[in-house]
Amino acid sequence: GATLGVLGGGQLGRMFAHAAQAMGYFTAVLDPDATSPAGRVSHHHVRTGYEDAQGLAELATLCAAVTTEFENVPAAALNRLAESLPVSPAGASVAIAQDRAAEKAHFVKCGVPCAPYAVIETAAQLAAVNDALLPGILKTARMGYDGKGQIRVKTRAELAAGWDELGQVACVLEKMLPLAHECSVIVARGRNGDIVNLPVQRNLHRDGILAVTEVYAGNLPAAQAEQAIAAAKSVAIGLDYVGVLCVEFFVLDNGQLVVNEIAPRPHNSGHYSQNAMDVSQFELQVRCMTNLPLVQPRQHSATVMLNLLGDLWFTQGETAKSPAWDQVLALPGTHLHLYGKVDAKRARKMGHLNITAATPDQARDTALQAAAILGIAPF
Ligand code: ATP
Ligand code: MG
Ligand code: MG
Repeated sequence: GATLGVLGGGQLGRMFAHAAQAMGYFTAVLDPDATSPAGRVSHHHVRTGYEDAQGLAELATLCAAVTTEFENVPAAALNRLAESLPVSPAGASVAIAQDRAAEKAHFVKCGVPCAPYAVIETAAQLAAVNDALLPGILKTARMGYDGKGQIRVKTRAELAAGWDELGQVACVLEKMLPLAHECSVIVARGRNGDIVNLPVQRNLHRDGILAVTEVYAGNLPAAQAEQAIAAAKSVAIGLDYVGVLCVEFFVLDNGQLVVNEIAPRPHNSGHYSQNAMDVSQFELQVRCMTNLPLVQPRQHSATVMLNLLGDLWFTQGETAKSPAWDQVLALPGTHLHLYGKVDAKRARKMGHLNITAATPDQARDTALQAAAILGIAPF
């Protein structure tokens, strides 16, 4: 078998490696961390930074194709690799996803509504902000994730103080919108333009971090679900995207669908696909990068995914202790995925639990029982 490479050694890279290996590929990971979750399950682990020319050359020599799992991998590294082998997604797509200003401009170009916003890179732009954007959320244009690099501001004074607090880096101010729900759609697009999608996922965030994803008919109004799938496809096609792309949306109180942001890779909100779909988002990633056919994935079970954050390891005090997996796994249709991270830390993504069932009610019921055992608040 050929070797497939991934830039980034986190859990997304690990689950990509599992999917690639199941299909007979060898895997290579580039990540500086010796204990990275993906590096530890791969055939090759290139332990350099993402800008290290020698590391990139070594990866290029090992691999037949390369993908990425790390949100902030420099586009230049992808472009460098693309000189000698197929790289998906392309550096240009990843660069847009890494910059909230470029990302929003792309949404506007595609005709997909996003929150009203202003780009703030200078004191003059700060002073010129329209009052209609307040209250709002000031977000650093680059490097934010899990709600980091974001400050909620109600007044112009708070906005100015917030921009100082963020170090006066390039930011986007977004109007705070009244959210009824959040959802996301994962699409996979091949080099030949074929595009398929996973069903619309309904997401619950807590403290800016994904907590629960629910996927079954009726979890969102049908009209919004259709609209979200169409919007996600147009965002991908507008980028001439190749690979797996997640598009996050808000559904507003008035029913309006608004795009939030994109992630140029498999996404936490698509992890249920490992157990509830006949093709997972990681297999889609493998198929995209190897030009294998993209077939429309079929959902065979109603499903709920619970994120397992490091906090669950500390319910008994200061010393980390594994949660009661034996009790959780005694429930029907529970599938445990742990990322092999060396130590548990609060707010750190340690794993997820996929729950599958014949009906939405059963999936929810089992998920609530599992949540109660684990100490996850009901939803
Ligand atoms: P991720 O880990 O998903 O990449 P992130 O740090 O990029 O997160 P966002 O997705 O921009 O952050 O925002 C995190 C959460 O904050 C959203 O899921 C939503 O709950 C809330 N939020 C963000 N922007 C807005 C907005 N304009 N109006 C209301 N709520 C918002
Ligand atoms: Mg984000
Ligand atoms: Mg987000």
